[in-house]
Amino acid sequence: GDGSPPMPFPQPVKVQEIRHTKIFINNEWHTSLKGKTFQTFNPATGVKICEVEEADKADVDKAVKAARAASQRGSPWRRMDVSSRGRLLHKLADLMERDRALLATMETIDTGKPFLHSFFIDLDGSIKTLRYYAGWADKIHGKTMPVGKCLCAWNFPLLMFMWKVAPALCCGNTVVIKPAEQTPLTALHVGSLIKEAGFPPGVVNIVPGFGPTAGAAIARHMGIDKVAFTGSTKVGQLIKEAAAKSNLKRVTLELGGKNPCIVFADSDLQLAVEETQKGAFFNQGQCCTAASRVFVEEQVYEEFVRRSVESAKSIVIGDPLDPRTSHGPQIDQKQFDKILELIDSGKKEGAKLECGGVAMEDTGLYIQPTVFSHVKDHMRIAKEEIFGPVQCIFRFKSQQEAIERANSTEYGLASAVFTRNLDRALSVSAALETGTVWVNCYNALHAQAPFGGYKMSVCLPTHFAHF
Ligand code: NAD
Repeated sequence: GDGSPPMPFPQPVKVQEIRHTKIFINNEWHTSLKGKTFQTFNPATGVKICEVEEADKADVDKAVKAARAASQRGSPWRRMDVSSRGRLLHKLADLMERDRALLATMETIDTGKPFLHSFFIDLDGSIKTLRYYAGWADKIHGKTMPVGKCLCAWNFPLLMFMWKVAPALCCGNTVVIKPAEQTPLTALHVGSLIKEAGFPPGVVNIVPGFGPTAGAAIARHMGIDKVAFTGSTKVGQLIKEAAAKSNLKRVTLELGGKNPCIVFADSDLQLAVEETQKGAFFNQGQCCTAASRVFVEEQVYEEFVRRSVESAKSIVIGDPLDPRTSHGPQIDQKQFDKILELIDSGKKEGAKLECGGVAMEDTGLYIQPTVFSHVKDHMRIAKEEIFGPVQCIFRFKSQQEAIERANSTEYGLASAVFTRNLDRALSVSAALETGTVWVNCYNALHAQAPFGGYKMSVCLPTHFAHF
């Protein structure tokens, strides 16, 4: 270093006890009507964190009733002037800033993602999303939709919560939200902050529970006007089907990806290695935008693979609460098994395993950052969403070939191009069928920028991303 003292890192807080584990309706905490609970686990240790009240259809009905009542003509929420609505969203952002270290710790315990990532990425993104939509609240003219319902994935629990809830609230809607069953804790803490901020009862209702029960009840509910969903393409299809068969509620879907990067020989190779690898391994590879297919021009192929392997081997794996850790465990046993099975298929189908490929330690669901070279388009690892720390590197000869292979997938979420040639950057970006194309970078996401996609990755009927 330069002799100056190191920057103090934010530190995780000691979480003695999880305070909010119940169903949140009308600004109050409710037990499950069926009297059921479910457990949530710390994926780094396998230890149970706590029991959470489990919502099912009857609890969803109760939440929808509350949300409907809160959006009746003459209700405090409907009468509230729009700038006060914006102020409430800012107030919620203030409270999240106050509880930032606590929320980041809870997110890390519940998901296994490294604490500094929770603190600097998930919390930062959540707070900025709230402030961005707070600013919109008094600039929207037109009609509102009374009740929206949201269903979320577990990979960015808090951020996804805000992506759904902030735009809905800024437009004056009321919401019922079901967090993923793996990761309900931060959403429930935010429930307490919503009450503290002063949102009227019933504006936000949180129903922790499982997909086929609480989730399905939402998708086919006759009293919900709009559903926003983030998760797998398979479940997205079920949601749209249920919406069609019930009341034709509006549907927003943010689904999977098999995102290509194209690295040209004229790129800054070190930058391309670092960014594509960040794209592949960030959040243990559990990203809809994961850079899971990297196409590298043949002249620089061997060198790119060599440097990628070196970089993968230097990743610090460990306890996610330790600020030095940059790679934690996978979310649960099911995902862990699925990833190892796909790695196995890659070996069997003839891809070259350059490093990783195995589980780590005896406890926790750790998988070593894995690099495959000589991957062919027909292999399962080239086609299926792995949702784990697996980087697949392909070789290409011509620009046209790279574009065609990059586009030959049912997904269309994100992609990236690495080149020093501006003409090429522009023409390749225009040819890639993805909602986002990053040039010489990866995963640059901002609350202010739209986030959409093509094909089976996204279905977005409104101009606001995520809702
Ligand atoms: P998932 O589809 O299994 O679950 C997502 C949510 O849907 C959970 O809350 C779950 O309880 C609920 N659900 C499950 N079955 C349901 C049913 N029959 N009816 C209603 N709800 C149901 O997905 P996941 O494993 O939690 O998340 C991983 C997936 O999410 C990946 O495919 C990833 O690409 C995708 N994802 C997409 C984005 C995006 O913005 N495009 C962001 C993050 C994750």
